[in-house]
Amino acid sequence: MNATSEQRMASRDAELELRQSIIDACREMAAQGINQGTSGNISVRTDEGILLTPSGLPYDRMKPEDIVAMKWDGSWTASTGNVPSTEWRFHLDILKSKPEVGAVVHAHPIFCTIIAIMNRSIPAIHYMIAAAGGNDIPCAPYAQYGTAELSHAALNALRHRRACLLAHHGLIAVGPNLRKALWLAVEVEVLAKQYHGCLQLGPPPLLPDDEIDSILKRWGQYGLRDSGTPKNAHQSS
Ligand code: 13P
Ligand code: ZN
Repeated sequence: MNATSEQRMASRDAELELRQSIIDACREMAAQGINQGTSGNISVRTDEGILLTPSGLPYDRMKPEDIVAMKWDGSWTASTGNVPSTEWRFHLDILKSKPEVGAVVHAHPIFCTIIAIMNRSIPAIHYMIAAAGGNDIPCAPYAQYGTAELSHAALNALRHRRACLLAHHGLIAVGPNLRKALWLAVEVEVLAKQYHGCLQLGPPPLLPDDEIDSILKRWGQYGLRDSGTPKNAHQSS
């Protein structure tokens, strides 16, 4: 066997693994209670473009060959009968315009969506807001699902953030890889739940901007570890 066919096999295996990781993450969204039914969608970056969930296919029936491969120009290939998620535009646009992003998770988590229906951003009620990269999780203005307008609104809201709400719709979370994007989606739903709870008691006090700035300076690898290394294991102070 020559090196080229070995390389081709290795890249086929890697893609199969990536496709399976998307399906696992979709099922994890339901297991974690941040999504229901066939709502939501997930994409990951590849060398040629993106791998994306198909539209409307129940996650418990999804197989690796159902995942749609889309090129950077929007052309796509999929197994018979499948079409790309209706939200392919924002997945493609986000991954095109943010080179540091490797995966995009979109879901309709109950508490994120409640806050988004009220057209509110999640403010700095808890230091974990810094996980999304700033002092709030902004809410992008309403635009119809699957449209270029929605993609534009989402990109704008994500300009300095790794997560945003979509008015009357749900949540987008991004990350350098799928595990981190999914982790952030779950954290944002927790923040939304906390914010919803606080609002029952009155307007919550917020952490000041300089506190969030200081947290962001320390943030580094805080949060989910990719390697499984214990948190702060190599920290000197
Ligand atoms: P798809 O099934 O087409 O991915 O749509 C789900 C969704 O959440 C649309 O916003
Ligand atoms: Zn949606």
